[in-house]
Amino acid sequence: MAFDDLYQEIILDHSRHPHNKENLDFVPDELIFENPTCGDSVKVAVDLSDKGVISKVRFDGDGCAISTSSASMMTEFLKGKSPAEALKFAEKFMDIMTGHDDSTLEEWGELEALEGVRQFPQRVKCATLPWHAVEHTLKTVIAGRS
Ligand code: ZN
Repeated sequence: MAFDDLYQEIILDHSRHPHNKENLDFVPDELIFENPTCGDSVKVAVDLSDKGVISKVRFDGDGCAISTSSASMMTEFLKGKSPAEALKFAEKFMDIMTGHDDSTLEEWGELEALEGVRQFPQRVKCATLPWHAVEHTLKTVIAGRS
């Protein structure tokens, strides 16, 4: 395994104790994003403050350690950002993970732990799944506000 032990620890910790994982029954099933190769499924909700910044990102679903930890770290990372800013980060994260952008995740806090996943194309889909979901939600939020 190429995973650094510390990174492995961060991923496992988030998957065992995910942050901002809540029941999101109010989010329609059409907005469930799935990764059939692994069996991960996720949906997200984005809450905005009065000032229009993201006050909370929540997720719900079932998935492997990588998709769950990616979702958990994502909810923390996007908090306090504007929807447009968060959307840019979501797109960049997916580009980095899929190799369309060769930047590192060095400036991404705990998300850096997922960098090693790029060596495993099947698992990249696990890591990017919650970001696809949040990308869709953010686009809807932005479209609704303009
Ligand atoms: Zn998975």
